[in-house]
This record gives sequence, structure tokens and C-alpha cells, in this order.
Amino acid sequence: MGRYIGPVCKLCRREGEKLFLKGERCYSPKCSFEKRGFAPGQHGRTRQGRAERESDYARQLRAKQRARRVYGIFERQFRRYFGVALQKKGLTGLNLLQTLEMRLDNVVYRLGYAANRSQARQLVNHGHILVNNHRADIPSMLLRPGDVVTVSENARRKTYWKELVDVADKRICPLWLDRDVKNLSGRVLRVPERAEIDGNLNEQLIVEYYSR
Ligand code: SF4
Repeated sequence: MGRYIGPVCKLCRREGEKLFLKGERCYSPKCSFEKRGFAPGQHGRTRQGRAERESDYARQLRAKQRARRVYGIFERQFRRYFGVALQKKGLTGLNLLQTLEMRLDNVVYRLGYAANRSQARQLVNHGHILVNNHRADIPSMLLRPGDVVTVSENARRKTYWKELVDVADKRICPLWLDRDVKNLSGRVLRVPERAEIDGNLNEQLIVEYYSR
């Protein structure tokens, strides 16, 4: 499955909020959104202030696009996740967000082993990650409670992982994951609750978008 390879800061400016797609830079004064917090393009500045006049459709579309961009997923796959969420019992919107959170690249990011989801995806693609001691190089792989994520022996020799121990320790790990930074591993304890998922995502609007 492909991935977006264009300028990511543009995506934040398009959504009118910081999506934290880059890692450390997002928290520094270098953040593009801090400097140019208006939509990209020739008419970006003039679009400012139109949010309150947005149609229902526009708000639903933006909510869906925001979630897609946060998790770095293309439309077709995102729609497929929505289909899966629809089949499950319970609230479709919550099911959708929980499914997205259980992706392997997201879990690697949440464990603090990557600065952002895009980097996590690359680490997975390059075969650095094992799930239950088996090589797992598909970022979209969905994990389940009890699954154990570790770093392969070969990858541990690389500078990235040697230096990561100190860095990862400073990153916050959510309560639904159990992290062991010294051993470069982590376990999925349970499916995250809504309060543990990005509060800026509006799953209700996403459901409305796909239910039109
Ligand atoms: Fe978004 Fe981060 Fe770029 Fe700022 S630095 S615009 S938060 S991706």
C-alpha cells in the first residue's frame, strides 16, 4: 500500500491545526504551522475565517481527511477500515479509531520507538520489527491484546536503536501498552479506550461522511 510522500507540513496547514507529523520539530519554533498557520496555496490566506461558514459536508470531509493524515493512510484503505468497523459490534466511530490504533506502525510509534508514524512505518518496512518473535514487515498489520513487539537482533546493532534507549525513555507511552525500553520491546495489554486516542479526531463526523 502506498504512502503520501509530499510535504507533510502542508497537511497541517490544510487542516488548520498541528497534526504532529514530524516529531521533535513539531514542538520547536521551526514548526511551519507556527510561522504560516494558514492554508497552503494562492488563496490560503483568504480562506481563513471561513470555518464557521463551512457546510456539514465540508466539516465531515475535513474530519475524515484529518484522521487519514494523522495515521498516514490513503483513501481506499481508510474506507476499508470503515467497512471493518461497521461490521463490528458497538460504536462504529470508536471501532474505526481503535482499529487504526492497533496498526503495527502506530503501536511502534506509541511505544516511543519512532519520532512519528512515518518513521515507524519505515522501521517496520525495513524488517526491524518482530511480532511474537516473527518478522513483521507490514505496517498495516493489526495487533491484538497479548501481542509482543520486539526489535530484531540485526537491527539492534544499528546506531539508531543503540541511541534510541535514552530518547524513547523520555517519550510518553500510553497505558494500554507495556513498554520495556531496555529490552526494546513492548506488549499490547488491551485495546485503547476513546480517552486514550487523539481527542482532536471527530469519529462521529467520519461516520456521517461515509453514511451519506
Ligand atoms: Fe505539522 Fe509538525 Fe510540520 Fe508543525 S512541524 S506543521 S506540527 S508536521
